[in-house]
Amino acid sequence: MSGLDSLLALVKAEQISVLHLQFVDLMGSVKSVAVPANRLADVLDQGLGFDGSAIEGFAREEEADMRLAPDLSTARLWRASSGFRELRLICESTLPDGLPFAGDPRRILARSVDRALASGAPQLMISAELEFFLLPQGFVAETPDPGDPAGYFDEFPSHRHERCLEAMAGGLADAGVGVTQIHHEAAPNQYEVDLAPLPPVAAADAIVTAKLIIRREAGLHGFTASFMPKPFNRHPGSGLHLAFKSADPNRESSMWSSFAAGILAHAPGLCALANPTVNSYKRLGGSEAPGFAVWSDRHPAPYLRRMEGIWEWRAPDASAHPYLALACAIAAGVDGLEQRLDLPPRLDDLPERWSAEQRFLRHVAELPASLRDALEALEQDDCLQAALGDHALRHYLEAKKLEWKAYAQTVHAWEREMYLTL
Ligand code: GLU
Ligand code: MG
Ligand code: MG
Repeated sequence: MSGLDSLLALVKAEQISVLHLQFVDLMGSVKSVAVPANRLADVLDQGLGFDGSAIEGFAREEEADMRLAPDLSTARLWRASSGFRELRLICESTLPDGLPFAGDPRRILARSVDRALASGAPQLMISAELEFFLLPQGFVAETPDPGDPAGYFDEFPSHRHERCLEAMAGGLADAGVGVTQIHHEAAPNQYEVDLAPLPPVAAADAIVTAKLIIRREAGLHGFTASFMPKPFNRHPGSGLHLAFKSADPNRESSMWSSFAAGILAHAPGLCALANPTVNSYKRLGGSEAPGFAVWSDRHPAPYLRRMEGIWEWRAPDASAHPYLALACAIAAGVDGLEQRLDLPPRLDDLPERWSAEQRFLRHVAELPASLRDALEALEQDDCLQAALGDHALRHYLEAKKLEWKAYAQTVHAWEREMYLTL
């Protein structure tokens, strides 16, 4: 049976009434459109038209009349919150003439993976650790609800979140997202869901899907799942650690070191994609989130942590754009390979504890202090700019600069506290 035939058979056997076509815009928001299932053959053949000029970062007159092209390999039976059985398909966008749209984030990642393979990089497998807070709906307070005494890895039977976490695990399994573990994180009401390793595009798809399911199940159980990088002053923030390993464990290790050295060398610009919100910079540099571009295999909280055959990239936070952050990290790694970069010396002590002079003497690069600094670093980084391509780069910078400006021009509660009676 062809891919289409077996999908048609699935739609019939499972009495699927709706196709759920999904994609991600340039800012990382998930978009979707529902289509009656009897249009499946038609949609796979022709694509589905949409107004690209109404999508963030796709906006340009010529892109008004775009089409969604579903990727058959992403078809999953999906249990919608309404109870409907849907067929979820992740799509790429194409131009009216059917050519791929160069500014599509999923396409940008696929292109970066192709370039990596062409330059002899190992085939990558990526796993993700999604941290988030589970808060009562409508929650607006300065600390998480104190009614949760649990900490890192604490058992949570008969805890009020248990049902919700079980439903998340069930929803993730239903949607075909492989989970390796779920545990309580360090802060009250903070949890972590770890996703099984997948090739890069599938890994980014899984991150997007997992966040949707975690949010949906939280909502159905009366909670809000927050992926905000640093919601509370006195508690750790939420990261999105991404671990890289080679699909072939026998690949030369010196190659891996140069790949990691590339990620370290491009760390400041990478922050613009992996730490893309104003709030991201309040997480970095505290509570086990890195502040400097260093690696270690001993200390638990460096920028890059080496474990057996695996490099864990610990900077990204849960607001990261999974496709763009991975596309750029892979491009940075490949740059390291092509330039045969050596790994800088391993650090066992974190530079946070050193004096400015010690840092200077040991050439340790500090991560950007703000979204604005990260955007500036991206503007200086030709390798990451090439990975994004002109269209995405221009629109991304434009939108993020506006986000920074809106924040910078807002008077915050802290300022009144400090200056009102000055
Ligand atoms: N929550 C920490 C962060 O913001 C990470 C904790 C851990 O190592 O799992 O990155
Ligand atoms: Mg964790
Ligand atoms: Mg981790």
